[in-house]
Amino acid sequence: MSTATRIEALARPDIVAMKPYSSARLEAAGRGVLLNANESPAPLLGNEAGTVPLNRYPDPQPEALVAALAARYGLPANHVLVTRGSDEGIDLLTRVFCRAGQDAILHCPPTFGMYRIAAQTQGAAVVAVARRPEQDFALDTAGVIDAVRTDERVRLVFLTSPNNPTGDTVDREFLARLLEAADGRAMIVVDEAYAEFCPDVSVTGWIPQQPQLVVLRTLSKAWAGAGLRCGTVLAQPVVITLLRRIIAPYPLATPVVSLALQALAPGMAERQQQLVRDIVANKARLVAMLATRPFVRQMWPGAANFVLARVDDAAGLLRFCAGRGVILRGFPAEPMLKDHVRITVGSGADLDALEVALNDWENSP
Ligand SMILES: *Cc1c(COP(=O)(O)O)cnc(C)c1O
Repeated sequence: MSTATRIEALARPDIVAMKPYSSARLEAAGRGVLLNANESPAPLLGNEAGTVPLNRYPDPQPEALVAALAARYGLPANHVLVTRGSDEGIDLLTRVFCRAGQDAILHCPPTFGMYRIAAQTQGAAVVAVARRPEQDFALDTAGVIDAVRTDERVRLVFLTSPNNPTGDTVDREFLARLLEAADGRAMIVVDEAYAEFCPDVSVTGWIPQQPQLVVLRTLSKAWAGAGLRCGTVLAQPVVITLLRRIIAPYPLATPVVSLALQALAPGMAERQQQLVRDIVANKARLVAMLATRPFVRQMWPGAANFVLARVDDAAGLLRFCAGRGVILRGFPAEPMLKDHVRITVGSGADLDALEVALNDWENSP
């Protein structure tokens, strides 16, 4: 069986059989006298100097942006799907690979909440293989492999590397074993939203040899582009083709495409790397700031742009800081993290404000 056939066998048969929607923009590449898409012939907004005209529908997958992201992540263009943030990539994968009422995703809480939301939205079951709080929230690697081997429903496994909010990365030897166990059974998705903060963690280079591996990347974190909504699914061409069958016809707004291209332009590379270096330096300061506090019981600095800490009276600390305008993240709905707070590495001024708030909390009666 070919790679494509083996992967299609894991996808929803109705999606594999579906005739994709063919948009006007796909049928004619946007050149010539365009009388095929009921657009306005002239722009209203976006007519000013230096802005892009908005009267035409955008290219569904703009070639220049696909090429820039493919080069950035080191894969051929046909391995790339650009999405409205990774959130959309997670949703598309779940809808392509999970039949409602039959299939399941597997995730390893505590982790990013969107995997569960996407599964529940699609009517797929959620198999949770919990991390081990007593072992620094380590993945239950044997449990994950066992569930993939024995639970016929599992079609998608979501791993996060580095994980949000524990900050740990996925062990490569475990990932290799998991891919072997998942052969012909499930797709393995590695969400690398924070990979830029952790050199050498990315497994995008495995995709050509590992057809069941999917990697998610985003401009939201290390590219300072959360407001852009621009994520990337990296996978075998057959996976990209399946996802394109169900993605919205025009997922990327014209200004987003133009701004994402600016962010990825060669002239920005040095500034982007400086941004990451600044965050790494500020993170060292944040870790030092927390390390000596008596109310901080334990800390997981992790490999991303945040720190997880177990504290005395997490709810009280969150409220106290919020009262001083410093907003931290708590996890009231996650039983394993009820005493924990997640603190994002901010600017120097942000950390100054945090330091004042923490000093006041420490000295409050
Ligand atoms: C922040 C984050 C994302 C980013 O999602 P976008 O939709 O691209 O903004 C993805 N995965 C994880 C684990 C995250 O923490």
